Amino acid sequence: MNAADAVTDALCELHTRFAGLRDGRLADYIPQLALADPDAFGLALISMDGHRYSAGDVEVPFTVQSVSKPFVYALSLSVVGLDEVGRWVGAEPSGEAFNAISLEPGTGRPANAMVNAGAILTTALVPDTRHAPRFDRILDYLSRFAGRQLDVDEQVYASEALTGDRNRALAYLIRSAGPLPVDPVAAVETYFRQCAVRVTALDLATMAATLANGGVNPVTGDAVVPEPVAAHVLAVMATCGMYDASGDWLLRVGLPAKSGVSGGLIAAGPARFGLATYSPLLNPAGTSVRGHLALGALSERFGLHLMHNP
Ligand code: GLU
Repeated sequence: MNAADAVTDALCELHTRFAGLRDGRLADYIPQLALADPDAFGLALISMDGHRYSAGDVEVPFTVQSVSKPFVYALSLSVVGLDEVGRWVGAEPSGEAFNAISLEPGTGRPANAMVNAGAILTTALVPDTRHAPRFDRILDYLSRFAGRQLDVDEQVYASEALTGDRNRALAYLIRSAGPLPVDPVAAVETYFRQCAVRVTALDLATMAATLANGGVNPVTGDAVVPEPVAAHVLAVMATCGMYDASGDWLLRVGLPAKSGVSGGLIAAGPARFGLATYSPLLNPAGTSVRGHLALGALSERFGLHLMHNP
């Protein structure tokens, strides 16, 4: 069997192995997310030559939610620079849940750009330009990472905007903590819209592959962000991408990753591949149960753990 067939075979085998699993719960604190099909399950991998491998529901649309965070972090790093972003958002694992109402003691910064507090501030750091308001720039970047024009699921956006007071509270907390060059309270509504951008597992795998490929989309050839930015984003995904389960994830799976409450999950093998799964039943840390198991099994089977010495 050649290498390409082995990848497709592995994805299909994992799909069959975990499709029947019913563990986990749909997110319901954003009411629209509770309407997802609990049986939906897809796995996709994009290689550095842009080849697509997939199994299951890889073209089913869902909202990107927190999987947007590394890409908007990439945009703010590209526009504002590592040092300036680092003045306002930390790069330390928080050990807390995604929506924790907390800032770093001492600095008053959000701990990192993967938790909600940090993501709201990262979004705020993307400036409007004369030609493009902040959200249009974000949508354009997410689309370039995915290699196609993405759009917003207006119903999910409205649902989160109606129920998003905890995130608004975080924005006020951040603003109260000290002088900022931007207004997180104004930006939190943009953050809701960014979370409601519609993607598929194939889109997410392409987005992850773009980070793995030094910021160049391997399908379209578009240089979306500079290579150092892609490396910085992968580093923060490795340490903080799985919230309070980040240490255990790095220990066992060994890949930079990011989860989202709608059931998307990405992982990147630097200079090798981008991976994504979609399955909306979540574990208590807000990660897709089937996605977590499938990526863990894939890592073990192909020795993908970054600390592994084959
Ligand atoms: N929009 C969600 C929130 O802010 C994203 C959380 C997630 O996907 O982990 O609550």
